[in-house]
Amino acid sequence: MKKALQIRLPPLPTIKDIIKLYKLQALKQLSQNFLMEERLIDKIVRAAGNITGNTVCEVGPGPGGITRSILRQAPQKVILVEKDKRFLPSLELIADATKHKVDIDIIIGDILKTDVSQYFPSDAKREWLDSPPPINLIGNLPFSVSTILIIRWLEMISKQTGPWAFGRTRMTLTFQKEVAERMAAPILDEQRCRLSVMCQTWCNVKYKFDISGKAFVPKPEVDVGVVTLTPFKYPLTKLPFKMFEKVVRQIFSMRQKYSIRGARTLFPENVCEEMALKMYEIAEIDPVTRPFQITNSEFVRICEAYNEIINMYPEFKDYDYRAPKIKACRVEGMELKL
Ligand code: SAM
Repeated sequence: MKKALQIRLPPLPTIKDIIKLYKLQALKQLSQNFLMEERLIDKIVRAAGNITGNTVCEVGPGPGGITRSILRQAPQKVILVEKDKRFLPSLELIADATKHKVDIDIIIGDILKTDVSQYFPSDAKREWLDSPPPINLIGNLPFSVSTILIIRWLEMISKQTGPWAFGRTRMTLTFQKEVAERMAAPILDEQRCRLSVMCQTWCNVKYKFDISGKAFVPKPEVDVGVVTLTPFKYPLTKLPFKMFEKVVRQIFSMRQKYSIRGARTLFPENVCEEMALKMYEIAEIDPVTRPFQITNSEFVRICEAYNEIINMYPEFKDYDYRAPKIKACRVEGMELKL
């Protein structure tokens, strides 16, 4: 086992002083809420496990509170992706202070548009079935992108691309408490939803701890939950991500109703009753089960049954319940399709 090291950073202005010094007023549109308490910052970084010697990619470092804590654990390389260029001077200050000890890349850009894996050292690559690579994704995520980001990353995990072309790269991330609870929610839980099934089909999800909104400046309206995700060696399904997501989304679209009601919306109106029942019959699921009563592996069976049906009837594949319905109408003697 590798030994955890600590490096001492040279004296730097406090994060509070940095914010004052560079006049870094938080921008609401970038979901900027800064974590000031060192004890809590260190707790997030500790949740990632031993990162000594690892490559760590931090999403949204802002003024650099978490970055400093990461650097104290002596990683080999740190990649910082921050959308707001006002933070560049404070991040450069930290990079300068540690330049002989840790290799730091600062990328001013949008995490949703950045392939961070291009900055990973090639020797960090592992086989999928090996232990996770010495790479960690860490971030006190902006609320405005956190759900979109995790869904995108799950899709990359399913395809083993981006950071997951290097193996089963682990994540330690913050979310709004309610979102974090949904991600980890087991069957029958009040918070069980599409996000729970999606996360738990590809990853081992652990809800680590809460952070009160009071710990942030400015204080957000909600509390925060810290979650770790480790991709499974063997995900529960090999079906295409988008198809799996569509089926799970539609089934949860009527959360309190019998799940067959949502399942019907996967098929055109004239056949929906028959096809949804056929799908449940193939999957051996009781149609009067409610969505939150369905286990992850039962969802996999339902999606496999859906796949079987659309292989038989390819015309249903692109059916979109939300698309405007085709109606014929007559305008001045012409027949139009609306
Ligand atoms: N890490 C700091 C902390 O814990 O105090 C700041 C966290 S703050 C909740 C979120 C950070 O993400 C902000 O610095 C914000 O500018 C940045 N951010 C927002 N949207 C982003 C995006 N699409 N890509 C990268 N960074 C983003």
